[in-house]
Amino acid sequence: MSNLSIPYEVSRRRTFAIISHPDAGKTTITEKLLLLGNAIQVAGSVKGKRGPHATSDWMTMEQERGISVTSSVMQFPYGGRIVNLLDTPGHEDFSEDTYRTLTAVDSALMVIDGAKGVEDRTVKLMNVCRLRDTPIFSFINKMDRDIRDPVDLLDEIEEVLGIQAAPINWPIDMGRDFKGVYNLYTDVIHLFTPGQGSVLPDDKRIDGLASDAARALLGENYDSFLEEIELVRGASHQFELEAFLAGKLSPVFFGTALSNFGVREMLDDFVQWAPAPLGREAVERHVSADEPGFSGFVFKIQANMDPRHRDRIAFMRVCSGQYEKGMKMLHARLGKDVRVADAVTFKAGERTLVEEAVAGDIIGLHNHGTIQIGDTFTTGERLQFSGIPHFAPELFRRIRLRDPMKSKQLQKGLQQLSEEGSTQVFSPLNSSDLIVGAVGQLQFDVVSYRLADEYKVEALYEPVNVYTARWVYCSDARKLEDFRKKAADQLSIDGGGYLTYLAPSRVNLALMEERWPDIDFRATREH
Ligand code: GDP
Repeated sequence: MSNLSIPYEVSRRRTFAIISHPDAGKTTITEKLLLLGNAIQVAGSVKGKRGPHATSDWMTMEQERGISVTSSVMQFPYGGRIVNLLDTPGHEDFSEDTYRTLTAVDSALMVIDGAKGVEDRTVKLMNVCRLRDTPIFSFINKMDRDIRDPVDLLDEIEEVLGIQAAPINWPIDMGRDFKGVYNLYTDVIHLFTPGQGSVLPDDKRIDGLASDAARALLGENYDSFLEEIELVRGASHQFELEAFLAGKLSPVFFGTALSNFGVREMLDDFVQWAPAPLGREAVERHVSADEPGFSGFVFKIQANMDPRHRDRIAFMRVCSGQYEKGMKMLHARLGKDVRVADAVTFKAGERTLVEEAVAGDIIGLHNHGTIQIGDTFTTGERLQFSGIPHFAPELFRRIRLRDPMKSKQLQKGLQQLSEEGSTQVFSPLNSSDLIVGAVGQLQFDVVSYRLADEYKVEALYEPVNVYTARWVYCSDARKLEDFRKKAADQLSIDGGGYLTYLAPSRVNLALMEERWPDIDFRATREH
Protein backbone atom coordinates (compact mmCIF):
# COMPACT_ATOMS: atom_id res chain seq x y z
CA MET A 1 0.00 0.00 0.00
CA SER A 2 1.61 3.26 -0.99
CA ASN A 3 1.13 6.25 1.29
CA LEU A 4 -1.03 7.90 -1.32
CA SER A 5 -3.62 5.17 -1.18
CA ILE A 6 -4.11 5.24 2.59
CA PRO A 7 -6.98 7.79 2.58
CA TYR A 8 -8.67 5.71 -0.09
CA GLU A 9 -8.14 2.49 1.85
CA VAL A 10 -9.56 4.09 5.01
CA SER A 11 -12.57 5.50 3.17
CA ARG A 12 -13.61 2.05 1.99
CA ARG A 13 -13.49 0.35 5.38
CA ARG A 14 -16.81 -0.56 6.99
CA THR A 15 -16.31 -1.87 10.52
CA PHE A 16 -19.33 -3.22 12.36
CA ALA A 17 -20.71 -5.79 14.79
CA ILE A 18 -24.01 -7.62 15.04
CA ILE A 19 -26.21 -7.08 18.06
CA SER A 20 -29.05 -9.44 18.83
CA HIS A 21 -30.73 -11.60 21.43
CA PRO A 22 -29.52 -15.23 21.49
CA ASP A 23 -31.25 -17.32 18.79
CA ALA A 24 -32.34 -14.36 16.70
CA GLY A 25 -30.01 -15.54 13.92
CA LYS A 26 -26.67 -13.80 14.39
CA THR A 27 -24.58 -16.86 13.54
CA THR A 28 -26.73 -17.65 10.54
CA ILE A 29 -26.57 -14.16 9.12
CA THR A 30 -22.83 -13.95 9.75
CA GLU A 31 -22.40 -17.04 7.66
CA LYS A 32 -24.47 -15.61 4.82
CA LEU A 33 -22.51 -12.37 4.91
CA LEU A 34 -19.29 -14.36 4.57
CA LEU A 35 -20.80 -16.31 1.74
CA LEU A 36 -21.76 -13.09 -0.02
CA GLY A 37 -18.28 -11.73 0.58
CA ASN A 38 -16.79 -14.90 -0.90
CA ALA A 39 -14.98 -15.43 2.37
CA ILE A 40 -16.39 -18.94 2.59
CA GLN A 41 -17.59 -21.18 -0.21
CA VAL A 42 -20.38 -23.15 1.39
CA ALA A 43 -22.55 -22.22 4.30
CA GLY A 44 -22.25 -24.51 7.27
CA SER A 45 -18.55 -23.88 7.67
CA VAL A 46 -18.79 -21.26 10.39
CA LYS A 47 -18.35 -23.07 13.63
CA GLY A 48 -17.74 -22.10 17.16
CA LYS A 49 -21.28 -22.11 18.39
CA ARG A 50 -21.96 -23.70 21.66
CA GLY A 51 -24.34 -26.61 21.66
CA PRO A 52 -27.33 -26.41 23.97
CA HIS A 53 -25.82 -28.73 26.59
CA ALA A 54 -22.38 -27.32 26.91
CA THR A 55 -23.05 -23.98 28.55
CA SER A 56 -21.01 -24.49 31.68
CA ASP A 57 -18.44 -26.89 30.42
CA TRP A 58 -15.30 -24.86 30.34
CA MET A 59 -13.26 -27.44 28.46
CA THR A 60 -15.72 -27.47 25.64
CA MET A 61 -15.85 -23.76 25.82
CA GLU A 62 -12.13 -23.48 25.47
CA GLN A 63 -12.10 -25.83 22.54
CA GLU A 64 -14.79 -23.83 20.95
CA ARG A 65 -12.97 -20.62 21.54
CA GLY A 66 -10.09 -22.15 19.64
CA ILE A 67 -12.39 -22.51 16.71
CA SER A 68 -14.43 -19.41 17.13
CA VAL A 69 -11.44 -17.13 17.30
CA THR A 70 -11.06 -17.53 13.59
CA SER A 71 -14.37 -15.77 13.43
CA SER A 72 -13.63 -13.07 16.06
CA VAL A 73 -12.80 -10.62 13.33
CA MET A 74 -13.77 -11.33 9.80
CA GLN A 75 -12.58 -9.22 6.94
CA PHE A 76 -13.98 -9.55 3.45
CA PRO A 77 -14.31 -7.39 0.38
CA TYR A 78 -17.77 -6.49 -0.87
CA GLY A 79 -18.98 -4.00 -3.46
CA GLY A 80 -15.65 -2.19 -3.62
CA ARG A 81 -15.51 -1.87 0.16
CA ILE A 82 -13.56 -3.77 2.78
CA VAL A 83 -15.92 -5.02 5.46
CA ASN A 84 -14.65 -5.79 8.97
CA LEU A 85 -17.20 -7.79 10.95
CA LEU A 86 -16.42 -8.09 14.64
CA ASP A 87 -17.96 -11.06 16.34
CA THR A 88 -19.40 -10.69 19.78
CA PRO A 89 -19.67 -13.64 22.16
CA GLY A 90 -23.04 -15.29 21.94
CA HIS A 91 -23.30 -16.28 25.55
CA GLU A 92 -24.67 -13.57 27.76
CA ASP A 93 -22.07 -14.24 30.43
CA PHE A 94 -19.58 -12.59 28.17
CA SER A 95 -21.61 -9.47 27.63
CA GLU A 96 -18.85 -7.21 28.92
CA ASP A 97 -16.74 -8.33 26.00
CA THR A 98 -19.62 -7.50 23.73
CA TYR A 99 -20.02 -4.06 25.21
CA ARG A 100 -16.38 -3.29 24.67
CA THR A 101 -16.38 -4.67 21.15
CA LEU A 102 -19.06 -2.11 20.39
CA THR A 103 -16.57 0.67 21.15
CA ALA A 104 -14.38 -0.60 18.32
CA VAL A 105 -16.98 -0.45 15.55
CA ASP A 106 -18.43 2.39 13.52
CA SER A 107 -21.87 0.88 13.06
CA ALA A 108 -23.94 -2.11 14.12
CA LEU A 109 -26.44 -4.49 12.60
CA MET A 110 -29.37 -5.34 14.82
CA VAL A 111 -30.92 -8.73 14.06
CA ILE A 112 -34.45 -9.24 15.38
CA ASP A 113 -36.42 -12.46 15.41
CA GLY A 114 -39.64 -11.42 13.67
CA ALA A 115 -41.72 -13.78 15.76
CA LYS A 116 -40.35 -12.47 19.03
CA GLY A 117 -39.72 -8.81 18.38
CA VAL A 118 -37.33 -6.72 20.44
CA GLU A 119 -35.89 -8.86 23.25
CA ASP A 120 -34.10 -7.74 26.39
CA ARG A 121 -30.55 -8.47 25.36
CA THR A 122 -31.05 -6.30 22.28
CA VAL A 123 -32.32 -3.49 24.48
CA LYS A 124 -29.18 -3.67 26.63
CA LEU A 125 -26.88 -3.68 23.64
CA MET A 126 -28.75 -0.81 22.01
CA ASN A 127 -28.24 1.21 25.16
CA VAL A 128 -24.51 0.67 24.81
CA CYS A 129 -24.65 1.74 21.16
CA ARG A 130 -26.49 4.84 22.18
CA LEU A 131 -23.58 5.97 24.36
CA ARG A 132 -21.74 6.75 21.15
CA ASP A 133 -24.75 7.28 18.83
CA THR A 134 -23.60 4.32 16.75
CA PRO A 135 -25.58 4.08 13.50
CA ILE A 136 -27.76 0.95 13.43
CA PHE A 137 -29.01 -1.20 10.57
CA SER A 138 -31.95 -3.47 11.38
CA PHE A 139 -32.73 -6.87 9.92
CA ILE A 140 -36.02 -8.51 10.82
CA ASN A 141 -35.33 -12.20 10.47
CA LYS A 142 -37.28 -15.43 10.00
CA MET A 143 -39.80 -14.23 7.45
CA ASP A 144 -40.20 -17.85 6.42
CA ARG A 145 -42.08 -18.31 9.66
CA ASP A 146 -45.28 -16.73 10.87
CA ILE A 147 -43.93 -13.61 12.43
CA ARG A 148 -45.65 -10.72 14.13
CA ASP A 149 -47.36 -7.94 12.21
CA PRO A 150 -44.52 -5.98 10.56
CA VAL A 151 -46.14 -2.66 11.47
CA ASP A 152 -46.17 -3.68 15.15
CA LEU A 153 -42.52 -4.66 14.91
CA LEU A 154 -41.59 -1.23 13.59
CA ASP A 155 -43.59 0.38 16.38
CA GLU A 156 -41.82 -1.77 18.90
CA ILE A 157 -38.40 -0.79 17.57
CA GLU A 158 -39.37 2.85 17.85
CA GLU A 159 -40.90 2.62 21.29
CA VAL A 160 -38.66 0.16 23.05
CA LEU A 161 -35.39 1.20 21.47
CA GLY A 162 -36.14 4.89 21.09
CA ILE A 163 -34.94 5.05 17.50
CA GLN A 164 -36.87 5.91 14.33
CA ALA A 165 -37.49 2.93 12.08
CA ALA A 166 -37.42 3.46 8.32
CA PRO A 167 -38.46 0.36 6.36
CA ILE A 168 -36.40 0.01 3.19
CA ASN A 169 -38.30 -2.99 1.98
CA TRP A 170 -41.62 -4.53 2.90
CA PRO A 171 -42.46 -8.23 3.11
CA ILE A 172 -45.01 -9.80 0.82
CA ASP A 173 -46.74 -12.30 3.06
CA MET A 174 -44.85 -14.47 5.52
CA GLY A 175 -44.35 -18.05 6.63
CA ARG A 176 -45.34 -20.63 4.03
CA ASP A 177 -46.75 -17.90 1.81
CA PHE A 178 -43.71 -15.67 1.95
CA LYS A 179 -43.14 -14.35 -1.57
CA GLY A 180 -40.37 -11.86 -1.18
CA VAL A 181 -39.80 -8.23 -0.35
CA TYR A 182 -40.77 -5.05 -2.09
CA ASN A 183 -38.17 -2.29 -2.03
CA LEU A 184 -39.93 0.98 -1.24
CA TYR A 185 -37.17 3.06 -2.82
CA THR A 186 -36.24 1.18 -5.98
CA ASP A 187 -39.75 -0.15 -6.75
CA VAL A 188 -38.32 -3.64 -7.21
CA ILE A 189 -39.73 -6.91 -5.87
CA HIS A 190 -37.06 -9.42 -4.86
CA LEU A 191 -38.56 -12.87 -5.13
CA PHE A 192 -38.07 -15.43 -2.43
CA THR A 193 -36.82 -18.83 -3.52
CA PRO A 194 -36.67 -21.30 -0.65
CA GLY A 195 -33.88 -23.79 -0.24
CA GLN A 196 -30.94 -21.65 -1.31
CA GLY A 197 -29.51 -21.21 2.13
CA SER A 198 -26.16 -22.81 1.54
CA VAL A 199 -25.30 -21.19 -1.76
CA LEU A 200 -25.17 -17.72 -3.22
CA PRO A 201 -28.82 -17.14 -4.10
CA ASP A 202 -29.96 -15.84 -7.46
CA ASP A 203 -31.54 -12.45 -7.33
CA LYS A 204 -34.88 -13.00 -9.05
CA ARG A 205 -36.71 -9.73 -9.31
CA ILE A 206 -39.76 -8.01 -10.72
CA ASP A 207 -39.33 -4.39 -11.72
CA GLY A 208 -42.22 -2.18 -10.72
CA LEU A 209 -45.16 -2.82 -8.45
CA ALA A 210 -47.38 -1.66 -11.29
CA SER A 211 -46.08 -4.35 -13.65
CA ASP A 212 -48.12 -7.29 -14.88
CA ALA A 213 -45.66 -9.65 -13.26
CA ALA A 214 -46.31 -8.00 -9.88
CA ARG A 215 -50.05 -8.31 -10.41
CA ALA A 216 -49.68 -11.95 -11.29
CA LEU A 217 -47.51 -12.59 -8.23
CA LEU A 218 -49.92 -10.94 -5.80
CA GLY A 219 -53.10 -12.22 -7.44
CA GLU A 220 -56.22 -11.36 -5.51
CA ASN A 221 -54.15 -9.67 -2.81
CA TYR A 222 -52.77 -7.11 -5.24
CA ASP A 223 -55.05 -4.24 -4.23
CA SER A 224 -54.70 -4.84 -0.54
CA PHE A 225 -50.90 -4.92 -0.88
CA LEU A 226 -50.99 -1.58 -2.73
CA GLU A 227 -53.02 -0.17 0.15
CA GLU A 228 -50.63 -1.60 2.68
CA ILE A 229 -47.70 0.03 0.91
CA GLU A 230 -49.54 3.35 0.79
CA LEU A 231 -50.12 3.08 4.50
CA VAL A 232 -46.52 2.14 5.25
CA ARG A 233 -45.19 5.00 3.18
CA GLY A 234 -47.53 7.42 4.91
CA ALA A 235 -47.07 6.23 8.46
CA SER A 236 -43.40 5.31 8.69
CA HIS A 237 -40.23 7.35 8.60
CA GLN A 238 -38.43 8.04 5.36
CA PHE A 239 -34.83 6.93 5.24
CA GLU A 240 -32.48 9.86 5.73
CA LEU A 241 -28.76 9.29 5.62
CA GLU A 242 -27.96 12.05 8.07
CA ALA A 243 -30.40 10.85 10.71
CA PHE A 244 -29.01 7.34 10.28
CA LEU A 245 -25.43 8.51 10.67
CA ALA A 246 -26.42 10.44 13.79
CA GLY A 247 -27.78 7.21 15.29
CA LYS A 248 -31.34 8.52 15.32
CA LEU A 249 -32.90 6.45 12.56
CA SER A 250 -32.46 2.85 11.53
CA PRO A 251 -33.13 1.48 8.06
CA VAL A 252 -35.11 -1.75 8.42
CA PHE A 253 -34.87 -4.78 6.14
CA PHE A 254 -36.99 -7.92 6.18
CA GLY A 255 -35.66 -11.32 5.20
CA THR A 256 -34.68 -14.77 6.27
CA ALA A 257 -31.08 -15.47 7.09
CA LEU A 258 -31.55 -19.22 7.01
CA SER A 259 -32.62 -19.12 3.38
CA ASN A 260 -30.12 -16.38 2.63
CA PHE A 261 -32.84 -14.09 1.45
CA GLY A 262 -32.82 -10.33 1.92
CA VAL A 263 -29.28 -10.43 3.28
CA ARG A 264 -27.72 -9.35 0.02
CA GLU A 265 -30.14 -6.43 -0.37
CA MET A 266 -29.26 -5.33 3.13
CA LEU A 267 -25.51 -5.70 2.59
CA ASP A 268 -25.67 -3.75 -0.69
CA ASP A 269 -27.11 -0.77 1.14
CA PHE A 270 -24.97 -1.31 4.18
CA VAL A 271 -21.67 -0.87 2.35
CA GLN A 272 -23.01 2.32 0.79
CA TRP A 273 -24.58 3.94 3.83
CA ALA A 274 -22.62 2.72 6.82
CA PRO A 275 -19.95 5.18 7.90
CA ALA A 276 -16.30 4.85 6.96
CA PRO A 277 -13.99 4.79 10.00
CA LEU A 278 -14.90 7.55 12.40
CA GLY A 279 -12.56 9.53 14.60
CA ARG A 280 -12.15 8.65 18.26
CA GLU A 281 -11.90 10.76 21.39
CA ALA A 282 -8.71 10.64 23.36
CA VAL A 283 -8.34 12.33 26.73
CA GLU A 284 -5.98 14.81 25.11
CA ARG A 285 -7.78 15.52 21.83
CA HIS A 286 -9.94 14.18 19.03
CA VAL A 287 -8.11 11.80 16.70
CA SER A 288 -9.48 11.68 13.21
CA ALA A 289 -9.28 8.56 11.07
CA ASP A 290 -7.41 10.28 8.24
CA GLU A 291 -4.48 11.47 10.33
CA PRO A 292 -1.17 10.11 9.04
CA GLY A 293 0.22 9.10 12.44
CA PHE A 294 -0.62 5.62 13.66
CA SER A 295 -2.87 5.17 16.70
CA GLY A 296 -5.07 2.43 18.08
CA PHE A 297 -6.58 1.06 21.26
CA VAL A 298 -7.07 -2.38 22.73
CA PHE A 299 -10.71 -3.35 23.32
CA LYS A 300 -10.42 -7.03 24.07
CA ILE A 301 -7.91 -9.59 25.23
CA GLN A 302 -8.44 -13.22 24.58
CA ALA A 303 -6.33 -15.92 26.12
CA ASN A 304 -5.31 -19.32 24.85
CA MET A 305 -7.57 -18.92 21.91
CA ASP A 306 -5.95 -21.46 19.78
CA PRO A 307 -4.75 -24.53 21.67
CA ARG A 308 -1.83 -24.80 19.26
CA HIS A 309 -0.67 -21.28 19.97
CA ARG A 310 -1.45 -20.95 23.68
CA ASP A 311 -0.96 -17.22 23.64
CA ARG A 312 -2.92 -14.17 24.52
CA ILE A 313 -4.05 -11.86 21.80
CA ALA A 314 -4.84 -8.21 22.36
CA PHE A 315 -7.37 -6.98 19.82
CA MET A 316 -6.60 -3.49 18.66
CA ARG A 317 -8.76 -1.16 16.65
CA VAL A 318 -6.57 0.97 14.41
CA CYS A 319 -7.87 4.54 14.76
CA SER A 320 -5.53 6.43 12.43
CA GLY A 321 -2.56 5.95 10.17
CA GLN A 322 -1.24 2.61 9.10
CA TYR A 323 0.22 -0.47 10.73
CA GLU A 324 3.21 -1.90 8.92
CA LYS A 325 4.96 -5.10 9.80
CA GLY A 326 7.95 -4.47 12.02
CA MET A 327 6.95 -0.92 12.95
CA LYS A 328 7.81 0.70 16.25
CA MET A 329 4.87 1.75 18.44
CA LEU A 330 4.68 3.65 21.67
CA HIS A 331 2.81 1.79 24.40
CA ALA A 332 1.43 5.04 25.78
CA ARG A 333 0.49 3.90 29.31
CA LEU A 334 3.96 2.48 29.94
CA GLY A 335 5.76 5.16 27.93
CA LYS A 336 7.72 2.40 26.21
CA ASP A 337 8.48 1.70 22.59
CA VAL A 338 7.67 -1.74 21.28
CA ARG A 339 8.44 -3.22 17.91
CA VAL A 340 5.59 -5.21 16.42
CA ALA A 341 6.48 -7.67 13.72
CA ASP A 342 3.85 -10.30 14.12
CA ALA A 343 0.43 -8.73 14.43
CA VAL A 344 -2.29 -11.08 13.26
CA THR A 345 -5.55 -10.68 11.49
CA PHE A 346 -8.30 -13.13 10.79
CA LYS A 347 -9.04 -12.97 7.12
CA ALA A 348 -11.65 -15.34 5.79
CA GLY A 349 -11.52 -17.54 8.84
CA GLU A 350 -7.76 -17.92 8.80
CA ARG A 351 -5.37 -16.53 11.29
CA THR A 352 -2.71 -14.85 9.18
CA LEU A 353 0.07 -12.36 9.62
CA VAL A 354 -0.85 -8.84 8.62
CA GLU A 355 1.54 -6.83 6.54
CA GLU A 356 -0.48 -3.66 6.66
CA ALA A 357 -3.64 -2.37 8.25
CA VAL A 358 -5.30 1.03 8.22
CA ALA A 359 -7.82 2.93 10.34
CA GLY A 360 -10.94 0.84 10.81
CA ASP A 361 -9.05 -2.46 10.73
CA ILE A 362 -8.52 -4.74 13.70
CA ILE A 363 -5.17 -6.30 14.38
CA GLY A 364 -4.18 -8.80 17.03
CA LEU A 365 -1.02 -8.22 19.08
CA HIS A 366 0.67 -11.02 20.95
CA ASN A 367 0.41 -10.12 24.58
CA HIS A 368 2.86 -11.30 27.15
CA GLY A 369 1.15 -9.62 30.06
CA THR A 370 2.00 -5.99 29.38
CA ILE A 371 -1.16 -5.06 27.53
CA GLN A 372 -4.45 -4.19 29.23
CA ILE A 373 -7.87 -3.44 27.89
CA GLY A 374 -8.05 0.24 27.05
CA ASP A 375 -4.33 0.62 26.28
CA THR A 376 -3.41 3.06 23.54
CA PHE A 377 -0.58 2.64 21.04
CA THR A 378 0.75 5.44 18.80
CA THR A 379 3.72 6.42 16.72
CA GLY A 380 5.15 8.58 19.48
CA GLU A 381 2.38 10.80 20.81
CA ARG A 382 1.27 10.30 24.41
CA LEU A 383 -2.44 9.66 23.94
CA GLN A 384 -5.10 7.80 25.85
CA PHE A 385 -8.29 6.90 24.02
CA SER A 386 -11.35 7.30 26.19
CA GLY A 387 -14.77 5.73 26.19
CA ILE A 388 -13.89 2.08 26.69
CA PRO A 389 -16.37 1.19 29.37
CA HIS A 390 -15.97 -0.97 32.41
CA PHE A 391 -19.33 -2.07 33.77
CA ALA A 392 -20.25 -2.75 37.34
CA PRO A 393 -20.46 -6.51 37.83
CA GLU A 394 -23.78 -8.03 38.79
CA LEU A 395 -22.55 -11.08 40.73
CA PHE A 396 -19.98 -11.23 43.51
CA ARG A 397 -18.06 -13.96 45.32
CA ARG A 398 -15.39 -14.00 47.95
CA ILE A 399 -12.48 -16.06 46.74
CA ARG A 400 -10.52 -18.33 49.08
CA LEU A 401 -7.51 -20.55 48.59
CA ARG A 402 -7.31 -24.19 49.43
CA ASP A 403 -3.63 -23.69 50.08
CA PRO A 404 -3.02 -20.36 51.89
CA MET A 405 0.65 -20.44 50.87
CA LYS A 406 -0.33 -19.67 47.33
CA SER A 407 -1.75 -16.21 47.88
CA LYS A 408 0.93 -14.60 45.71
CA GLN A 409 -0.01 -16.73 42.72
CA LEU A 410 -3.68 -16.00 43.36
CA GLN A 411 -3.05 -12.26 43.43
CA LYS A 412 -1.04 -12.45 40.25
CA GLY A 413 -3.59 -14.62 38.48
CA LEU A 414 -6.49 -12.41 39.46
CA GLN A 415 -4.59 -9.30 38.48
CA GLN A 416 -3.92 -10.68 35.01
CA LEU A 417 -7.41 -12.03 34.55
CA SER A 418 -8.85 -8.68 35.55
CA GLU A 419 -6.55 -6.84 33.15
CA GLU A 420 -7.88 -9.07 30.43
CA GLY A 421 -11.40 -8.27 31.48
CA SER A 422 -12.18 -11.89 32.36
CA THR A 423 -13.26 -10.88 35.83
CA GLN A 424 -13.16 -7.89 38.12
CA VAL A 425 -11.35 -8.04 41.40
CA PHE A 426 -11.89 -5.92 44.51
CA SER A 427 -9.69 -5.61 47.59
CA PRO A 428 -11.64 -4.28 50.56
CA LEU A 429 -9.92 -1.45 52.47
CA ASN A 430 -10.62 -3.06 55.82
CA SER A 431 -9.89 -6.72 55.25
CA SER A 432 -7.56 -9.03 53.39
CA ASP A 433 -10.40 -10.65 51.48
CA LEU A 434 -10.46 -10.78 47.71
CA ILE A 435 -13.81 -10.32 46.05
CA VAL A 436 -14.40 -11.15 42.42
CA GLY A 437 -17.20 -9.75 40.37
CA ALA A 438 -18.73 -10.99 37.15
CA VAL A 439 -21.51 -10.15 34.79
CA GLY A 440 -22.52 -13.79 34.43
CA GLN A 441 -22.15 -17.01 36.42
CA LEU A 442 -20.08 -18.70 33.75
CA GLN A 443 -17.31 -16.15 34.25
CA PHE A 444 -16.67 -17.59 37.72
CA ASP A 445 -16.19 -21.06 36.24
CA VAL A 446 -13.78 -19.70 33.70
CA VAL A 447 -11.80 -17.87 36.38
CA SER A 448 -11.41 -20.89 38.63
CA TYR A 449 -10.51 -23.11 35.70
CA ARG A 450 -7.88 -20.70 34.49
CA LEU A 451 -6.48 -20.08 37.97
CA ALA A 452 -5.94 -23.81 38.27
CA ASP A 453 -4.70 -24.35 34.74
CA GLU A 454 -2.43 -21.36 34.29
CA TYR A 455 -1.50 -20.28 37.82
CA LYS A 456 -1.71 -23.62 39.61
CA VAL A 457 -3.95 -22.36 42.38
CA GLU A 458 -7.11 -23.97 43.55
CA ALA A 459 -9.62 -21.33 44.50
CA LEU A 460 -12.95 -21.70 46.25
CA TYR A 461 -15.87 -19.33 46.08
CA GLU A 462 -17.95 -18.20 49.00
CA PRO A 463 -21.07 -16.11 48.96
CA VAL A 464 -20.55 -12.47 49.88
CA ASN A 465 -23.06 -9.83 50.79
CA VAL A 466 -22.60 -7.49 47.86
CA TYR A 467 -25.44 -6.35 45.66
CA THR A 468 -23.58 -4.05 43.29
CA ALA A 469 -20.43 -1.98 42.84
CA ARG A 470 -20.18 1.75 42.23
CA TRP A 471 -17.06 3.67 41.34
CA VAL A 472 -16.66 6.62 43.65
CA TYR A 473 -15.72 10.07 42.42
CA CYS A 474 -15.67 13.43 44.19
CA SER A 475 -14.04 16.69 43.18
CA ASP A 476 -13.74 17.82 46.79
CA ALA A 477 -10.77 16.00 48.35
CA ARG A 478 -11.88 16.69 51.94
CA LYS A 479 -15.37 15.32 51.40
CA LEU A 480 -13.91 12.28 49.69
CA GLU A 481 -11.60 11.67 52.63
CA ASP A 482 -14.52 12.00 55.03
CA PHE A 483 -16.51 9.51 52.98
CA ARG A 484 -13.54 7.17 52.82
CA LYS A 485 -13.36 7.10 56.59
CA LYS A 486 -17.05 6.75 57.31
CA ALA A 487 -17.81 4.16 54.64
CA ALA A 488 -14.51 2.26 54.83
CA ASP A 489 -16.17 -1.07 55.61
CA GLN A 490 -17.90 -0.99 52.24
CA LEU A 491 -15.01 0.40 50.22
CA SER A 492 -12.60 -1.50 48.02
CA ILE A 493 -9.88 -0.85 45.51
CA ASP A 494 -10.57 -2.48 42.17
CA GLY A 495 -8.05 -4.14 39.85
CA GLY A 496 -7.30 -0.83 38.16
CA GLY A 497 -6.64 0.95 41.48
CA TYR A 498 -9.98 2.78 41.61
CA LEU A 499 -12.00 3.38 44.75
CA THR A 500 -15.21 1.35 44.64
CA TYR A 501 -18.24 1.23 46.89
CA LEU A 502 -19.59 -2.31 47.32
CA ALA A 503 -23.22 -1.87 48.28
CA PRO A 504 -24.84 -4.70 50.26
CA SER A 505 -28.31 -3.84 48.93
CA ARG A 506 -30.22 -1.59 46.61
CA VAL A 507 -31.70 0.22 49.60
CA ASN A 508 -28.28 0.81 51.09
CA LEU A 509 -27.03 2.28 47.82
CA ALA A 510 -30.02 4.62 47.59
CA LEU A 511 -29.48 5.73 51.19
CA MET A 512 -25.80 6.40 50.64
CA GLU A 513 -26.51 8.38 47.51
CA GLU A 514 -28.94 10.49 49.47
CA ARG A 515 -26.65 10.93 52.43
CA TRP A 516 -23.61 11.84 50.35
CA PRO A 517 -24.88 14.19 47.64
CA ASP A 518 -21.37 15.34 46.71
CA ILE A 519 -20.13 11.84 46.04
CA ASP A 520 -20.68 10.53 42.56
CA PHE A 521 -21.55 6.80 42.56
CA ARG A 522 -20.94 5.60 38.99
CA ALA A 523 -22.09 2.33 37.47
CA THR A 524 -19.37 2.43 34.80
CA ARG A 525 -15.83 3.61 34.69
CA GLU A 526 -13.57 4.09 31.74
CA HIS A 527 -10.37 2.21 31.29
P1 GDP B 1 -27.80 -16.79 17.24
O1 GDP B 1 -27.94 -17.39 18.59
O2 GDP B 1 -28.35 -15.41 17.19
O3 GDP B 1 -26.42 -16.89 16.66
O4 GDP B 1 -28.79 -17.62 16.30
P2 GDP B 1 -28.54 -18.71 15.19
O5 GDP B 1 -28.03 -18.09 13.94
O6 GDP B 1 -27.80 -19.85 15.73
O7 GDP B 1 -30.05 -19.12 14.93
C1 GDP B 1 -30.86 -19.68 15.94
C2 GDP B 1 -31.81 -20.67 15.35
O8 GDP B 1 -32.70 -19.99 14.45
C3 GDP B 1 -31.12 -21.75 14.53
O9 GDP B 1 -31.78 -22.94 14.72
C4 GDP B 1 -31.27 -21.25 13.11
O10 GDP B 1 -31.27 -22.29 12.16
C5 GDP B 1 -32.62 -20.58 13.16
N1 GDP B 1 -32.76 -19.51 12.16
C6 GDP B 1 -31.89 -18.54 11.85
N2 GDP B 1 -32.38 -17.77 10.85
C7 GDP B 1 -33.58 -18.29 10.52
C8 GDP B 1 -34.56 -17.95 9.55
O11 GDP B 1 -34.44 -17.02 8.77
N3 GDP B 1 -35.67 -18.73 9.54
C9 GDP B 1 -35.87 -19.79 10.36
N4 GDP B 1 -36.98 -20.48 10.27
N5 GDP B 1 -34.97 -20.13 11.29
C10 GDP B 1 -33.83 -19.41 11.35
